[in-house]
Formats: sequence, C-alpha cells, structure tokens
Amino acid sequence: MTDTAGAAPVTQPVTSTMAADDEVIIGLEIHCQLATRTKLFCGCSTDYRDDQPNTHVCPICLGLPGSLPRVNRKAVEFALRVGKAFNCTIAQEAEFARKNYFYPDLNKGFQITQYDKPLAVKGYLDIEGDAGEKRVRITRIHMEEDPGRLVHKGGADRPKYSLVDYNRAGIPLIEIVTEPDLRSPREARRFLNKLRATLEYLGVFDSEKEGSLRVDANISIQPKGWFEREGKGKADRGRVEVKNISSYKGVEKALTFEITRQKNLIRRGQKLESATRHFVEARGITTSSRSKEMEQDYRYFPEPDLRPLRVRDRAAEIVLPELPDARRARFMEQYGCSPNHARTLTGELRVAEFYETVAGADAMLAATWVADTLLGELNYRDMSIVRVPPDTFRELLFLLKGGNITDKSGVEILRLMLDQLKESGCCESPRECVNRLGLTVLVTTPLAATGEDPIVKAAQETLAEQPQAVADYRNGRKEAMNFLVGQVMRKTRGCAKPSDVNAVLSRLLEGEG
Ligand SMILES: [Zn+2]
Repeated sequence: MTDTAGAAPVTQPVTSTMAADDEVIIGLEIHCQLATRTKLFCGCSTDYRDDQPNTHVCPICLGLPGSLPRVNRKAVEFALRVGKAFNCTIAQEAEFARKNYFYPDLNKGFQITQYDKPLAVKGYLDIEGDAGEKRVRITRIHMEEDPGRLVHKGGADRPKYSLVDYNRAGIPLIEIVTEPDLRSPREARRFLNKLRATLEYLGVFDSEKEGSLRVDANISIQPKGWFEREGKGKADRGRVEVKNISSYKGVEKALTFEITRQKNLIRRGQKLESATRHFVEARGITTSSRSKEMEQDYRYFPEPDLRPLRVRDRAAEIVLPELPDARRARFMEQYGCSPNHARTLTGELRVAEFYETVAGADAMLAATWVADTLLGELNYRDMSIVRVPPDTFRELLFLLKGGNITDKSGVEILRLMLDQLKESGCCESPRECVNRLGLTVLVTTPLAATGEDPIVKAAQETLAEQPQAVADYRNGRKEAMNFLVGQVMRKTRGCAKPSDVNAVLSRLLEGEG
C-alpha cells in the first residue's frame, strides 16, 4: 500500500448530504501483519513476497498431523508494544484458542487465534475528528495466525480454478477492534493513518509490504443520538460488515459507497438487513457475499498445544519509543514548525525521519518544502519518500536559502529530480538540474554564505573547543583535520557532506592563520 500522508482526501464528508436526523456509525477491525523475521508458531521466514508459492512452509505452518506450534516471543513482544501504545489494559494471562472452520487457505481446519482471553483490552487512540480532537476507543487487540492465500485464475467473479499458496500461512497478525466511534469515512481514514503511523513508530509493522494491513468495516446509519442512547443494543436498522478491504484509500471508498447504498434503501422505505458484503476495489462498489457466520458456528475452544501467555509483567518492562503525538509536539518546540506542518511531517515515520535529516539546512524552510511541496509531488508520482536522497534535497534547500534560485525554479528542479529518480533510481544534483533546465540564475556554493550556515557555525564552535587539534594542524600534523571534520559531522548530526566540512574548516583555519 502506498498512500502518502499528505494525500488529498478522496471524498467530502458524506454526513453533510444525509438527512439531518440520521448519523453514520462506523467501527473497524484491522488485521496487521507484525514485521517479525519468522512466523508465529514456526521458524519459517516471513520474507515470502518475491518467492515462489509454497517455499516458506514446514509441517507446523502446513498444519500437518503431529506437528506442535511454538510461540514466537518477538511476535508477542511486538503485540504488547501495540497494546501499550494504544493505552490498553494488558491481560494478566492471554490464551490462544482454536477457531474452527473449513476453507482451502486454512488446511488444518482451524485458525489459532485468541477468543475470550485476548492480549489487550479497553484502549484508545486520539485522532483529528470531523469536529476537532477525538478519542476512538479500542475494544481489544488479539494475536492470531494469517491463513494462506488463494489465487483465483480466470477472473475473480467466476474463476476457472484456484491455486493455494501457504507462504502466508502462520504469519503473525494482530487484530485491532474499535468501538463504533467513527462518524464518517474521513474519520475512518484519519484513524487508519494514525494507526499505521503508530505501528511504524513502534517498529512492528511495514506498511510498504503488500497486504500487510487489511480492514473489515462495520457500518450502519441510525437515527441521530441512537448510539449514545442505546449503545450496542439492538439497532433500529441493520448493520453491514464490509470485508477484507486491502488499501487505505479503499476503506474510504468502500464506506462512502456503502453509505450511499444504505441511504438510498432508507429513502425508498426498504428494510436494511444485517449482512456481510465484499468490496470490489477495481469498481469501487460493495457486493453481497456469503451470509455471516454466528460466533457459535466457530466452536472456539482453548488451544491445547499452547500454554497461556503470562504477559502483564512482560509488558511492564517494555519501554516505548517516541510516538507520533510526542514527535509532533517536539517538532513544534525544537524546529518551530506550525501545528499543521508538524502534523503532516510526523504522520509517517519515514517522512519524519527524512525531515529531521534535512532540517539542518533551515528548519522552517525545510518544513515548508517537505510538507507543502515534496509530499504532494511524491503523491502525484506514487513514489515513497525513501527514494529521495536527503543530501540532494538538502542541497536544493541551500540553493533556495542562499537566494541562488527562486521558489518557482526550486519546484521545477524538484520535479526534474523526482522524474529522474522514478525512472532510473538516481538523479542529477540540483546544480546540474539548473544547467539542464537552462535557469539563468547565479549559482554559487551555499558555503559562500557564512554566519547562519549551520556547517560554518558548527566549524567555528569546533575550532574554539579544540585548540589542541588546531595547534596540531598548524604545526603540520594534517591528520588533525580528520579529527576536526569528525567533530563537526557530529555537531551537524551527519547532515553535512565531509567534503563541504573539509572545505569550510580549511578556509577558517587559513583565514585565522
Ligand atoms: Zn513453517
């Protein structure tokens, strides 16, 4: 899935076109693959996407008789990190259970999941709702194994035959279930973006991997205030579950379609039955699907081959990294970013890291160019920010900062660079782009501008702090330069090119000598 944080919303809020006395009620169930190296109950590698079908399998994940599962400790730790980050109560003891059903992608006839003793319950995640900051409650988070994958040949509607690939079978999943607290497709999208960002900050999830996140959405339209009055009681109108939506944009599209469909039925006075529907991404519609199983159909029972997990004490030992909200606050404090820029820049881990790498050029200028220009240009090209070399982008910022090029030229240069990167994976330097585009501006080295230049500043500080190394250098011990360059690099947190640092130091040492 590639959906950039700065992407424009797919739709307008649907609520604005609804009858004033109705409201949309949405709850989500999200399956995320945990980014462990091995599967949940065996040692098979999880890195299967580019490999031949059925090459990452063993008796355990094939569910052969007599094989015994063993729990992957890393997967449990990853799931606990998520539970803590989403403010959940962690269970004293979690327990795996068998969910029995037959489907060809599940060859042992049951899925190992968690049922009445999930890992974590009663959490929340704060998002930017349609009417300001909003708390979305998390009902539960549990662990389970991914089933295999069916590949239908000859069209999804009426396949001639289906192939099964068990490489995915046994990949660790967490299922995150929300309370029905979302009120529009846009809120659902924002919730998912925040969820994805949090999982990435936790280091437990890779959103770039196809199929790493799948969503089921429950949706109904009820008379306004019904939910607050009746809670989870019997709804006035049926609730539809849209299954297996596998892209971020797909969630918003599926919900928008489903709301329109339900509204039309209500307007015609037809009864809305509870049902399961399937989202057909290519056509942007939902279609009727098999009738929903009842919980008792699965005949859950505790997994006899696995002991309960004593997790609360282990969770207490986990120290969480900086999460998106904390990083947003820090960006405003440390770099002076506006609230909107800080939100955009921290909305994806890779974007936040990229920004911090280039912020040394000029924090405010970098915020504007990353949040307002770069992300939009990347989204337009369906490119990830990881493909942009920070050094090259920083050089562009220096040219802009030094007044060597105009903003308009800056955009032209950036576009040329991104087109080159998309095509060949590498690009010319901004200065080479200036020549290629025939931009008639004076280009001097950014290092000519002294004073506020962060490299010059760091170099001046270093020289003041290291009189011995300076004396050594002047006494002909040229290796002292390597030491000084290292000190400046540390001060600029690796944001400067060694050759630039060397040039600046040489000039300062010569000037003062
Ligand atoms: Zn295996």
